[in-house]
Amino acid sequence: MIDYNHQNCDGKKIHLDVGKVVCVGRNYMLHIQELNNEVPEQPLLFMKPSTALCSVLEPVSIPDHLGECHNELEVAVLINKRLTEATPEDVAASLWGVGLGLDLTLRDVQAKLKSKGQPWERAKAFDGSCPMSGFIPLSDINELNNLQFSLQVNGELRQQGNSADMMLPIVELIVEISQSFTLMPGDIVMTGTPKGVGPLKKGESLELTLENGFSVSTKII
Ligand code: ZN
Repeated sequence: MIDYNHQNCDGKKIHLDVGKVVCVGRNYMLHIQELNNEVPEQPLLFMKPSTALCSVLEPVSIPDHLGECHNELEVAVLINKRLTEATPEDVAASLWGVGLGLDLTLRDVQAKLKSKGQPWERAKAFDGSCPMSGFIPLSDINELNNLQFSLQVNGELRQQGNSADMMLPIVELIVEISQSFTLMPGDIVMTGTPKGVGPLKKGESLELTLENGFSVSTKII
């Protein structure tokens, strides 16, 4: 198993087992509008297994022959304490740090699954569907609700977001998740994609940037 989260962006070491990834769909209004989706009555949650995780520092392999594979750049939060039915105070004390992840999505597969009312795992939870950066400790983050981040594809801006625009902010989102799913040390929460999703192509180069944090590059293969 990969050890992407045994290091953070400053080279400091942490030791957490790689866990599950809990994701939220439709947490930014402009992304809901770009895909003509309905605004959910409660957060739309789904998961990726540990086998979906890979390091974004390595080349990112996308599936062949399954239609479009879309970028969804998202703020990722690394959990370091067990959280069950947590309060906002519990959550605030249990966040190790912040990174960036790609919620790779087979959009054509997802459209078919949605039309049949079937679950999304084949579109979102496949092997390698969650390339992940290292993490910056929370103590080095000024304001969790003002994280500016962006994705460039071949040098052109594809996605830009700010956590201030989330419909459910990070702490409240994790409170909500923990009502249904216990989060364990090493689990990651993906906080939703801003607008700007689109098909990735083999050979493209990506640059993921968390402002005042880090910038990492990778290639689609
Ligand atoms: Zn997503």
